[in-house]
Amino acid sequence: MVKKYEKLFINGEWVTPHGTGFTTVVNPATEQPIAEVCNADATDVDRAFAAAREAFKTWSQTSAKERAEWIMKLYHAMEARKEDMAQAISASMGCPIAKSRIIQVNCVVAFKKFADRAAFMEEETKVNNSVIVREPVGVCSFITPWNYPLYQLVGKVAPALAAGCTMVIKEASITPLQGLIFAEVVESIGLPKGVFNLLTGKGSVLGDLMVTHPEADMVSFTGSTATGARIQKMSADTVKRVCLELGGKSPYIITEDAPLEAAVKFGVEDVMINSGQTCICLSRMLVPASRYEEAVVIAKRVAESLKVGDPTDESTYMGPMSSMGQRNTVVKYIEKGLAEGAKLVTGGVELPEGITGGAYVRPTIFRDVHNKMTIAQEEIFGPVICMIPYSTLDEAVDIANDSIYGLSSGVWAGSVADAVKIARRIRTGGCYVNGGDFNYDAPLGGYKQSGNGREWGDFGMHEFIEIKSLQLPG
Ligand code: NAD
Repeated sequence: MVKKYEKLFINGEWVTPHGTGFTTVVNPATEQPIAEVCNADATDVDRAFAAAREAFKTWSQTSAKERAEWIMKLYHAMEARKEDMAQAISASMGCPIAKSRIIQVNCVVAFKKFADRAAFMEEETKVNNSVIVREPVGVCSFITPWNYPLYQLVGKVAPALAAGCTMVIKEASITPLQGLIFAEVVESIGLPKGVFNLLTGKGSVLGDLMVTHPEADMVSFTGSTATGARIQKMSADTVKRVCLELGGKSPYIITEDAPLEAAVKFGVEDVMINSGQTCICLSRMLVPASRYEEAVVIAKRVAESLKVGDPTDESTYMGPMSSMGQRNTVVKYIEKGLAEGAKLVTGGVELPEGITGGAYVRPTIFRDVHNKMTIAQEEIFGPVICMIPYSTLDEAVDIANDSIYGLSSGVWAGSVADAVKIARRIRTGGCYVNGGDFNYDAPLGGYKQSGNGREWGDFGMHEFIEIKSLQLPG
């Protein structure tokens, strides 16, 4: 049944939009519609920002303790809706349900951590006759993409609430469902009205309004580098603080003395999870020439062992792409790779075996890739790995850094100490060392054209803080 969402969440209540029409949410596995979500327009954007501005007057003055209590309430209520959100995300963007329960919704735990970090706002420092205090940046405009739609929301909303900010949110139009559940949770706990406002509708209509609105003090955007660059320019006229979390083309250096089986397996599974639609995925695998053939064999075996198919099947590793549009983009890149002379180890443009429809792409591995090829330079955002041979470690580091992006990277060496030395030479905001795990308490963000912000952990608070100095009489 196609569920219809006819209201927006503004000023603590569900309101009928001024905007007209609906955006259809499509299941990319079945290509069938699953929901219709109402479209906001400019009047709705104004209403949402007016509510956030009004709420800021009081929310910004609450104590850290009070905000921490609200965030903990949110945490408990979100925990109770995790399964609903995992299902909604899986249905709207194809992440297999068993994976969705982990990689898509476990981020809810971060509310607990940001409840603790609210106290950070009340820390003061004394410098001569001045006291330096922290204040919230103000009304925030949040724009998020579709690949980890809840994770990106939590990474903005939790620190913003902790800091004392209020917000207007617009999610990617193909994945609005977990956001609507989030708003139901906000309503259920009775969060003060106007602190959290959620709009649904098309990025092409709402995007510009969200980034130029006179009542927005800051814009936090996660999405593609092209859109991020545009947002930065557009926000300049009103000198907004702009926090950008953008694309990546992350290198993964495997050294001569690394345990090859474990290292290659880690790299292949890292890219294939979420069908390669992970901004930090290690899509360029750099392997010493002396071990290249061996690595290719392992990569092929691992990729072909991953179960691709129905996202509702608990044993599926990789579902479809998040939309047919994204499938087309990825297929074009695979064709481009072949045209530029890279060779397929496995995968390709056909649908996976036994699958006759839906936005599926085979786990694809290219060998004989040169770093100047388009498939090694541009973010494909699909289940495609470029295996690039190198001769010396210096050359590997040069190849790793030969990118407009600088979001993430990986190194697997014979020892952690050696790997860390290499990691420190790569110009990226993060690095996965010898198979290290994702950490919600560590900052995530990009160097170069991968952005200018940091989310998560203590550093994730910084985007939302203004610094004030009070000069006291001697
Ligand atoms: P996108 O840039 O197309 O869209 C992102 C969001 O921006 C959507 O909500 C969209 O509706 C909105 N938007 C579209 N046009 C707009 C405009 N003119 N003004 C304002 N907003 C507009 O990106 P996408 O395809 O949805 O997401 C994939 C991209 O996100 C990839 O490049 C990926 O690497 C990146 N990403 C980065 C991070 C990170 O933390 N650095 C995390 C996840 C995804």
